[in-house]
Amino acid sequence: MKYVVVTGGVMSGLGKGVTSSSVGVLLQACGLRVTCIKIDPYLNIDAGTMSPFEHGEVFVLHDGGEADLDLGNYERFLDVTLTSDNNITTGKIYQTVMEKERRGAYLGKTVQLVPHVTDAIQDWIQRVAHAPVDGKEGPPDVCVIELGGTVGDMESCPFVDALAQLSCGVGGAGNFCLIHVSHVPVLSAVGEQKTKPTQHGVRTLRSLGLAPNILACRSNSPLEGYAREKLARSCHVSPGNVLSLHDVGKNLWRVPILLRDQKAHEAVLRVLNLGVGGDEPDLK
Ligand code: ADP
Repeated sequence: MKYVVVTGGVMSGLGKGVTSSSVGVLLQACGLRVTCIKIDPYLNIDAGTMSPFEHGEVFVLHDGGEADLDLGNYERFLDVTLTSDNNITTGKIYQTVMEKERRGAYLGKTVQLVPHVTDAIQDWIQRVAHAPVDGKEGPPDVCVIELGGTVGDMESCPFVDALAQLSCGVGGAGNFCLIHVSHVPVLSAVGEQKTKPTQHGVRTLRSLGLAPNILACRSNSPLEGYAREKLARSCHVSPGNVLSLHDVGKNLWRVPILLRDQKAHEAVLRVLNLGVGGDEPDLK
């Protein structure tokens, strides 16, 4: 199983969901079977009890599970049918761990965030990643995992640690690709794209045990050459793996095309040790 993890820095709402779906579409167009998982680090069991005014519309899955709208994006972009297990929340993980503790399944051990909660997260990810979601038999080839929120948030720490463990465990070299979505603002007085927020975000990510393979930079206008080079150098990512995720307006279907035109699929396939060099993915 290959894992593509999408994290976000600087602030939420940058486009992690759209990036995850778009990368999934590109990998599908390269002939791979793709599934996805959304991690929501909040303590609610699911989005069913959350105010739509605060959190946006709830998306109801085929099994009745109530989840974040991102699950709806995945289903529409990838033509897959997901279950409530494809949405992991802190509430669900803690519920599992607490039930296990009450059953005495930890055999007298002190139940701790590491390793018990982080193990529960990894077990959940691996179990769900292997379940087919496209109506075919057998496990998918790639699981795209979106980590909600911003790296460095207190709530997401156990998930970041679990993903860091996964990156050197079953998702070792060649099986784990991390895409970090960040913001590149333009300071109007200077008129220059600023890379410092991304540099700080990547530093936080590294301090928590994860290193980005690809940077997806959300900006108002296409990423300039100098900003790309500076980001590549300071974040230790090759310039070809720094992607411009500039504003495409209301038509989000243009994001997969934007990424394909920058050969994002080749960058991901290269990190995952999968063959590069076939025809350009047909997204029609
Ligand atoms: P996150 O998952 O990081 O919170 P989302 O993927 O939900 O972010 O996107 C937040 C909002 O930004 C959505 O309304 C989405 O339609 C919009 N958006 C994301 N990427 C782009 C883009 N490249 N151009 C224009 N709008 C975008």
